[in-house]
Amino acid sequence: MNNKINTGRVIIRFGAELLVENPDNPATPVRCTAKRKFDTIVCGDVITWHHNKHGNASVDDLLPRKNALTRPGYRGRPRTIAANLNQVVIVNSWLPETSWNLVDRYLIAAEQLNAEAIIVMNKSDLAQEHATKEDWRAMDIYREIGYPVLEINAITGEGVDELLELMSDKTSIFSGRSGVGKSSIANKILPDTDILVGIISDSGEGKHTTTTATLYNLPKGGYLIDSPGVRDYALGGISPQELSEGYVEFAKFADMCRFNNCTHDHEPKCGVRNAVENNQISNERYQRYIQALRGLESS
Ligand code: GDP
Ligand code: ZN
Repeated sequence: MNNKINTGRVIIRFGAELLVENPDNPATPVRCTAKRKFDTIVCGDVITWHHNKHGNASVDDLLPRKNALTRPGYRGRPRTIAANLNQVVIVNSWLPETSWNLVDRYLIAAEQLNAEAIIVMNKSDLAQEHATKEDWRAMDIYREIGYPVLEINAITGEGVDELLELMSDKTSIFSGRSGVGKSSIANKILPDTDILVGIISDSGEGKHTTTTATLYNLPKGGYLIDSPGVRDYALGGISPQELSEGYVEFAKFADMCRFNNCTHDHEPKCGVRNAVENNQISNERYQRYIQALRGLESS
């Protein structure tokens, strides 16, 4: 028996058992049992573990999390579903069409998670028929702010290599409305998920694989954390402060606002409004911000 303490990420949790990365043998994850005090461990967590005398492995410790994704659970209490993700891939399509307000909202969520964001426009084959001038403009504005914007086709694979490059040194999640092609992209980039499904089925827990958050290795490096619950994790309530922080291009101009609690709406000497007037901030993004701000005020 080998008493070495290992460090690895949790691939999936089923009940008291975890499937964990094995640094000595990356192709074969280790099944680990966790004591009650480790009930909070979720997919994506980093833990330390050792082989035990039952030929199994035990959890020693849960290392501090950088962030966590939560969903409203029992009685609205937030339930953690995944941890340590640092990139949100916001998936959109030409049909169903894209709500740029919703894209902004996902960008705010990414900012709250302290994660990077990529904007993906899937179904490139439908662009000719469905894309409008406003859509192309919206995509250009995101590029100007600094977000990568990719056009891909999950069926033909066009653009998918570029997406994999951007995911290669990160732990990413897919988010976006239903029907945009998240499962199709996952199927395209995760050719060997059957292997994992096999390992988990051996434990008699195969049925959980479709609903439980799972950490996947990506072909060019990096990880994807995925499950239906991760893909449509709830965009919770936000404060006006969080809203404006999510419009990342406002920050350097907000420093010039007269009031440090400026909402960039009606206040005099507002650096953000001034930047909109000078075309340093896109008026489209600013108008969506104001619309969202009014939404917060009326709710
Ligand atoms: P999800 O709900 O976001 O997971 O979306 P799905 O992956 O289930 O895709 C919804 C539908 O869009 C399916 O019928 C897919 O075959 C289709 N689809 C996905 N990607 C593309 C694409 O690049 N082009 C076209 N034309 N259809 C696509
Ligand atoms: Zn202001």
